[in-house]
Amino acid sequence: MEKTKNIWVLPEINSRDKEVSTTSLGLLAEARNIAEKTGGIVTALIFSESTRVTPDLLGNYGIPRAYLFLDPVFEQFSVEAYAAAILPRLRVDQPWLLLMGQTAIGRELAPHLAAMLETGVVTSCVKIDLAEPEKPVFSRPVYGGQLYQEIVFETDGTMLVTMAPEALSALPSKKSVKPKTVVIESNLPVDLIKTRHIEFLPADFRSVDVTEADTIVAAGMGAISDEIYPLVAELADLVEGAIGTTRPVVDGGKITRDRMIGQTGKTVSPDFYLALGISGATHHTGGIQESGRIVAVNRDRQAPIFQSADTGAVADLREALPKLIERIKQAKANGEIF
Ligand SMILES: Cc1cc2nc3c(=O)[nH]c(=O)nc-3n(C[C@H](O)[C@H](O)[C@H](O)COP(=O)(O)OP(=O)(O)OC[C@H]3O[C@@H](n4cnc5c(N)ncnc54)[C@H](O)[C@@H]3O)c2cc1C
Repeated sequence: MEKTKNIWVLPEINSRDKEVSTTSLGLLAEARNIAEKTGGIVTALIFSESTRVTPDLLGNYGIPRAYLFLDPVFEQFSVEAYAAAILPRLRVDQPWLLLMGQTAIGRELAPHLAAMLETGVVTSCVKIDLAEPEKPVFSRPVYGGQLYQEIVFETDGTMLVTMAPEALSALPSKKSVKPKTVVIESNLPVDLIKTRHIEFLPADFRSVDVTEADTIVAAGMGAISDEIYPLVAELADLVEGAIGTTRPVVDGGKITRDRMIGQTGKTVSPDFYLALGISGATHHTGGIQESGRIVAVNRDRQAPIFQSADTGAVADLREALPKLIERIKQAKANGEIF
């Protein structure tokens, strides 16, 4: 008998974060899109220490069901606790697919669950091909995005997949539903958790992943000369921005690949994106659309980046950057900005 293709999805909705991340919304949209093709029912998994977490937005994303796992330990993420809550229910429901994000939580939880279930896991998935719904093909980049690996599960058990945030699109459903929430009191033993949360430390803007950064200072080919790049780095330090870049800069070895933004790089959503010496090819701008304010500096007034920017300056960086740095230093000294 053909198995019903029910989908579980783990959006990271909790009472700690004020906003639900675009990755979580993208996961809900992805689960819904798959279910529309395969006829399965989507259940969202929510972990909370209280029932204060109301999954209203699930309805807007067309998600008909939710499990609200309830336990004081869910105030913080704990891989042991999440797995202990999920596994008994998963063994009963036997969902066809469990979708998670390639996030700090998904990266830890997915392989943990896979080990407990003695099954495989696909991480950093960027595409799910459902041409043959009985054998979905999961694609993931390998060799720094130069090639794609295609994976088919050889199991009748639940397929565990983490989706790369850049592959997700957070579009709400055209038709909203009223989700049915089942509250599950997990009653987990206190000695279950082997790790203890001490404190959250704010991410260092120099090392934070560009997908998490609030401010990004991106250097393109026009900003990486030995004359200009030290100024870019100084400016990034002043505004506490993470350095981002374009593909040719990475290919030239000047900045590491994890900082590359765009179609084959990362999709970013900072509040502020400063594009310095970047022409604005769609391969690049496709990755910055979700940014708050985009400011571009380029000496070529015809550069396509100006079409994506909220504010633009036609200027040579060799002249503009020292002035900008000086102005910011002054403003900081005067207490105009912090
Ligand atoms: C399949 C495929 C996938 C790709 N994926 C990506 C991707 O994910 N991300 C990505 O970024 N690219 C990607 N690319 C490459 C992309 O098409 C562009 O070539 C690239 O984004 C251009 O990078 P750039 O803007 O740094 O360089 P350029 O296009 O060379 O632009 C440099 C800019 O700097 C300006 N400039 C130069 N000197 C100064 C100065 N002194 N002051 C001010 N301005 C100055 C110039 O006017 C110019 O506009 C991909 C290409 C392909 C074919």
